[in-house]
Amino acid sequence: MILYYNIPKTIEDELALSGEERIYYAVPFDIDAGAQWVKDSYLIVTTKRILIHTGGKLTASYDIKDCSEAKSCPRVGGGLLTVNHRGTEKILVHYSAKHLSRYAYVARGINILISGRFEEVESREYEKTCPKCGRAIPGTKRCPKCSGEGTWLAPFLRMAAPYKKQYFGIFILMILAAVTTLLNPELQKHLINDVLKGGGGMKQALVFLGMMFSLSVGIVIVNVLKSNASARLGARIAGDLRYELFRKYQELPISFINDRRPGQLLNEITQDTMFIRQFMEDVFCNLFAVLFIFIWDVIFMLVLNFKLALLTFLFVPLAVFLTMTFRKTMHRIFSLQYRKNDDVSSDLQDVLSGMRVVKTYGKELEEAEHFKHLSDEFARINRRNESFWAVFSPMLQLLMGLGVLAVVLFGGRDVLGGRMTPGALYQFVTYTQLLFQYIGWLNRLPMQLTQLGSCLERINDILGQEVEKQDETKVTDLAIKGEIRFDHATFGYKSYQPVLEDINAVIKPGEMIGIVGASGAGKSTLINLLMGLYEVDDGRLLVDGKDIKEIRKSSYHSQIGVVLQETFLFSGTILDNIRFSRPDAGIDEIIHAAKLANAHDFICDTPDGYNTYVGEKGHSLSGGERQRIAIARAILTDPRILILDEATASLDTESEYMIQKALERLTSGKTTFAIANRLSTLRGADRIMVIDGHRIAEIGSHEELLEKKGIYYRLQMAQSA
Ligand code: ADP
Repeated sequence: MILYYNIPKTIEDELALSGEERIYYAVPFDIDAGAQWVKDSYLIVTTKRILIHTGGKLTASYDIKDCSEAKSCPRVGGGLLTVNHRGTEKILVHYSAKHLSRYAYVARGINILISGRFEEVESREYEKTCPKCGRAIPGTKRCPKCSGEGTWLAPFLRMAAPYKKQYFGIFILMILAAVTTLLNPELQKHLINDVLKGGGGMKQALVFLGMMFSLSVGIVIVNVLKSNASARLGARIAGDLRYELFRKYQELPISFINDRRPGQLLNEITQDTMFIRQFMEDVFCNLFAVLFIFIWDVIFMLVLNFKLALLTFLFVPLAVFLTMTFRKTMHRIFSLQYRKNDDVSSDLQDVLSGMRVVKTYGKELEEAEHFKHLSDEFARINRRNESFWAVFSPMLQLLMGLGVLAVVLFGGRDVLGGRMTPGALYQFVTYTQLLFQYIGWLNRLPMQLTQLGSCLERINDILGQEVEKQDETKVTDLAIKGEIRFDHATFGYKSYQPVLEDINAVIKPGEMIGIVGASGAGKSTLINLLMGLYEVDDGRLLVDGKDIKEIRKSSYHSQIGVVLQETFLFSGTILDNIRFSRPDAGIDEIIHAAKLANAHDFICDTPDGYNTYVGEKGHSLSGGERQRIAIARAILTDPRILILDEATASLDTESEYMIQKALERLTSGKTTFAIANRLSTLRGADRIMVIDGHRIAEIGSHEELLEKKGIYYRLQMAQSA
């Protein structure tokens, strides 16, 4: 879809498009050159021209053939789009922050147009529209308006759908519980009127008491069964949701995980699902029983004594009014409590995972202070919420006490006047107490439903994220030979800030490429693209001439190997950790890989050899040893493409020698990309790629680059000085 807004007809007429000329982009902008807000202003890009309409008038026009480069430049609070026109930089439009990513996209589109690749522009898709409301929604986000945010019923029903049978069973038990609860006051009335007052005798009294006792036992049994079934169902739903969330986290693009704080992700899995379990146990298991009792309670009261019932009901709107007034506050304070809780968990995680750095810099006290601040804040919000309830609940209780008092007063008058039997009054008072008891319960319900809504919203937000699954009809397995081609590849973590721009390079199978550049230049980003963790925003990345997007991910990943500066070891044995890359590998193959990786000897020296437990709470390995495990892991899959990210940085000389040797064995004959800050470690590289200013600034052999006397030469001189 092309970014084409319904520009006013007058503007379209004024454009006077020639026969073949077509509009590619018509994008609004909202700030003029004098930093004033403007309306009805558009940047229009056609196959031939770039036109600017400000406030309904054509204010500039440039022929695309005279332009050489378009750039979107983020500024504080917005940005501007420039183009190089006949050698001078021209500012095309200014825009506010809401247009940033759109203009970054347009800038890249203009550059593609400038290079004449029209088809590529046409195949680009930026926004999609919500099928329900037709609003534009960027990327893979769901439409915020139509996804049912803020409500609880639809998501709850969706969550409950797979467990229909269990829900039905619990529903029947709830109805049984309600019927037995409602029968009790009726029996009490007969006991008083027919037996105690009517002189029914001891035998009849015992029969009634026996019935009442059986009913009470019945209520207990039904309630136990109901609670048990609800708790079991709650635990099952929570377990299933936890699993679904965990799986979703693994499927989601890495950028999604990077954008969120770990505490938040953790809470979604643990706390939100725990709340749902609690909701099932404490709220849902009583929900229909309470509603059923409540409705029949009201009917019985009206039938028993219409006037008295109306008098009692006068107190109900007051209670409801109180609840409604407080509801908004409740939502706000509980959302805040959740947010603060996330802050505390995230900080705790940050500090625990960075404990070495904290201790090295002696920042324990500062970190403790920071944590104390967050924790105090959380406690303060918690206290405030508790006090809120502490005041709110007794106010309602008082109201209910007054209601019962009024019933006794006016009902008593009816009994004395002979208009009501004492048994009926007793029954009425019991119904009134039930009514108020359940108003109290129902009164808490909105808060619990609101909390449930927030939990489900967060969970659904994750589960509803579209996973960019590869289209099975378009992807194929590929036996990789190892040729890599970057074809006008552009990528940025934020679409309006490209980290790599217009990267072009062809790497032959088996070639070793050293990647150098200043810190933050984009070396790891290039490698992230090669590892298939991110996709290029524009241009293509080709493997053996095939777009990486068209290669099945599992097939691609099984043919690349990675050795990073910091090797992550999972909790498990050394054997498990090597086998991680190829679970079907036999023990002989693992030992062979470990020998090639120069790891066998040190593994044999550990307490249990290959069965030594490493990772969290396991035997600690040195940096060099971890590295050799990673190399063994990579050797095991015999990858066609290898990625080494500072693999030999921060190692002692002896380890480095062993690892260099192991790496030489690993890399021979494979397309290898090696990032290194110390240029001496790149001696074996066939060519060196220097990344600077978002682009490949230089590429060539060590000798060629030295001769060129450019960036690489200067780096070399600086390091050998
Ligand atoms: P290098 O490896 O050359 O040191 P990187 O590729 O790690 O550089 O980073 C290049 C740029 O991209 C830096 O400006 C960095 O801040 C940014 N960057 C790296 N990773 C992310 C990320 N996950 N999200 C957003 N920006 C990132």
